[in-house]
Amino acid sequence: MPNHLFDQIAQRMPAAKAPFAHLPDGRTCSYADVLAVSARFANAITALGVKKGNRVAVQVEKSIEALMLYLACVRAGAIFLPLNTAYTPAEIEYFLGDAEPAVFVCDPSTAEALRPAATKAGTKLETLGLRESAAKSAGSLLDKALAASATFSDVDCGADDLAAILYTSGTTGRSKGAMLTHENLASNARALVETWRFTSRDVLIHALPIFHTHGLFVATNVILFSGASMHFLPRFEPAQALSLMPKATTMMGVPTFYVRLVDHPGLTREATAKMRLFISGSAPLLAETHRAFEAKTGHAILERYGMTETNMNTSNPYDGAENGSRIAGTVGFPLPGVSLRITDPETGTPLAADEIGMIEVKGPNVFKGYWRNPEKTAAEFRADGFFITGDLGKRDARGYVHILGRGKDLIITGGYNVYPKEIEGEIDAMPGVSESAVIGLPHKDFGEGVTAVVVPVKGAEISEKAILAALEGRLARFKQPKRVLVVEELPRNTMGKVQKNVLRDTYRHLYKT
Ligand code: AMP
Repeated sequence: MPNHLFDQIAQRMPAAKAPFAHLPDGRTCSYADVLAVSARFANAITALGVKKGNRVAVQVEKSIEALMLYLACVRAGAIFLPLNTAYTPAEIEYFLGDAEPAVFVCDPSTAEALRPAATKAGTKLETLGLRESAAKSAGSLLDKALAASATFSDVDCGADDLAAILYTSGTTGRSKGAMLTHENLASNARALVETWRFTSRDVLIHALPIFHTHGLFVATNVILFSGASMHFLPRFEPAQALSLMPKATTMMGVPTFYVRLVDHPGLTREATAKMRLFISGSAPLLAETHRAFEAKTGHAILERYGMTETNMNTSNPYDGAENGSRIAGTVGFPLPGVSLRITDPETGTPLAADEIGMIEVKGPNVFKGYWRNPEKTAAEFRADGFFITGDLGKRDARGYVHILGRGKDLIITGGYNVYPKEIEGEIDAMPGVSESAVIGLPHKDFGEGVTAVVVPVKGAEISEKAILAALEGRLARFKQPKRVLVVEELPRNTMGKVQKNVLRDTYRHLYKT
């Protein structure tokens, strides 16, 4: 039967024997295996009673079987709901209560701790672990899948049916489930394959987690939609990634991957000579990292911008001439089919080039809404269908999009708006500075006091006084930090995003309001 997303994957499949994933233990998962194993899992979840529209929540270690479970849900018409492996039982209880999945799949080692949450939500509990040997069970769901048939009649699903719910990282308040349709995922995969020129000859280094849009959809769907293959790694290790580069053509990473590669003595022109493309996203890539990587390898990292709710929105151009080139510190142009505008955050009125405002997007990539939260969904869409991303940015005269941070990170001090990125840019350019985060902290005179948290490069000495002195004359007085705190490192989440909410919380009493 027609299944909107899986049919497009199946139509693009190369020869059955062609590799899909090279695994860390030396096994290869072929495209024939993709069909057979996803069918087995689809049969296994169907036998558990999963029906079209039911949620299947999953908190497991990264494995090829977990990826096949995603495809199995698509084929069975179920809604795949991946959960960050770092979530605690209390957090899992919230997600299960909110999503009411028919089945919850967790690692065998966490099953006992999570069983009460599953029972409370009335959800069946299954396990899926890492397969160490054919003799040892790696979980109840895998056992069921191995015993099931390797053919499956795909459940009828249209473009608008849900394929997945991904919970947002929830840096303010409780996280919300973003509902993603078959066409949201398919349209984005097609746009990215075209923009980044993926073909069946490509081999991707996949070292991202698969509970997040980046590793799950961007990386995996691009490979499936181009019939390409990947080295599927449990986590990112610079030495391992470097050793695979002669056998690969592309890598997708978060900025921290590139920071760590730049620090590695093995990163050279020769080591990367076979690679055709390095892509970065999920958090801002420092222009300095972009330049250092290019100086060492000759490769200009291609930066793109997206989010859980919208899939990918923009990308730097693949290559020069008519399209311009990859510009450090920008996220390029809207992808084919995506409309993007910058608006006044209060009124929604579109702004001119170079004016800073709210980034809004519209297109087949944009999600259907927040799960069981029509009020929040309504609040984040304009009447004409544009989604209010919550990111502040601008488009320059050439049309490149620049991200200036999350709207909630905007600082309002003495009635003036201060965009942290502008100040971070000034501080990051100073000698001895590795990176910085500028935040607003409660202040009795100004409402918020501009505060810089700065990380020195290893071995360098930097002082609050010197930084403040250097900023004087470079920035209007209201933008100058009231305090500069020197720290060893910034708090980051698994996707490499600096957690400004954690910094705001840690230093909330700095100005003794
Ligand atoms: P997530 O939903 O976890 O993927 O987070 C999405 C958010 O990450 C976006 O709304 C942006 O704030 C940020 N983000 C993603 N890509 C970039 C990028 N290339 N540069 C700056 N911020 C980014």
